[in-house]
Amino acid sequence: MSGKPPDPIRRGLYLHLPFCRRKCRYCGFFTLPAREQDFAPFVEALLREIEAKASRYPEPLDTVFIGGGTPSTLPVPHWRRLLQALQGHFRFREPVEWTVEMNPESVTPDLLALFRDFGIRRISLGVQSAHDEELEILGRIHDRATAERAISWIHAHGFENVNLDLIFGIPGQSLESWIRSLEWAVQQGPTHLSTYHLTIEKGSVFEQWFQQGRLTLPDAQTVEAMYRVREEVLGAHGYQRYEISNFAKPGYECRHNRIYWEHQEYLGLGPSAASFLYISDISARRWRNVQDLPRYLQNPCFTEEDESLGISELITERIFLGIRLREGIPFRRAWIPEAVQPFVTWEKGRVRLNQDGVLVADRIAVELVSALEERGAIHAETLRFLGRRTPDPGA
Ligand code: SF4
Repeated sequence: MSGKPPDPIRRGLYLHLPFCRRKCRYCGFFTLPAREQDFAPFVEALLREIEAKASRYPEPLDTVFIGGGTPSTLPVPHWRRLLQALQGHFRFREPVEWTVEMNPESVTPDLLALFRDFGIRRISLGVQSAHDEELEILGRIHDRATAERAISWIHAHGFENVNLDLIFGIPGQSLESWIRSLEWAVQQGPTHLSTYHLTIEKGSVFEQWFQQGRLTLPDAQTVEAMYRVREEVLGAHGYQRYEISNFAKPGYECRHNRIYWEHQEYLGLGPSAASFLYISDISARRWRNVQDLPRYLQNPCFTEEDESLGISELITERIFLGIRLREGIPFRRAWIPEAVQPFVTWEKGRVRLNQDGVLVADRIAVELVSALEERGAIHAETLRFLGRRTPDPGA
């Protein structure tokens, strides 16, 4: 992280723990079966990577997000070594936001007590639906009762910053059942809700079923209604949408995820984790760790994909990522193409998606990038104008 641009950059650390007890049918992430005998060698490799990367990238971190996979499948003694290594090797800029992802079936009081002891204050729980039949279709290994028990333990251990992940557009799901999932989730008292539209991921069981014509997804009209109703249901309970998929109570936006959308820096540890670091204010580097356990164990610093990003790539990314945020991106009014106008609002020098725009965000981003290309505006000045930073309420 040398040759830094003059403005302060926020930095996140993402750590990928790939183990899952069973692969969900919709999942396209890099995961590995949770086999007891793999845990110790994996943690050893991870500790080597932590030590190497911490000395290579000494700048202080603002956020740490431990995701997967199902991080909560890792037993307590391994977790203790991991957290000690992270806290012993990296430097942090207070207040640091630590998040750990958990799945309901692997939440245990011991694990929660350990997280509390290490100062972790934010838990993200993958509950996905309030309906057992939908959880079954998704291939989840927990039911609603298990999720409720996990949430009560999380609260009992003093975690008040809790995210719940939900999915909509599940095969067979109706608008009514989605509304009931939202209402159930709100009753569990989270500070944050992530609501993801189901996508058919490459290599997933759902992809096979889709190709075989065995997957009946809700029609486009229903999905559109599912998108729109989120704001109504969650808004009535004090949650504000701050990104296309994410809602939070005031002061509880996820600072780590904002790092991605704001085009800040992040360092990824663990197999398949991606890193993005600036080389200067107009160039950056992105790479991905190896996605293979034996090769990772052999050399945890091995990278598979490594690319340099110049002005054009950075402008494109800044638009695609930033337009997802409620506050949108800095943009000149005259640059907004006519086709995009029904889907956006422009105020105080920023363009942002309106309710209709949220449904077609990527299409809008394509149009905005094309508008800059047509004007010959893909240059360093535009990149600087777009800015790297947007307001971060958690800062
Ligand atoms: S969706 Fe999550 S829990 Fe399910 S297999 Fe993928 S990473 Fe594991």
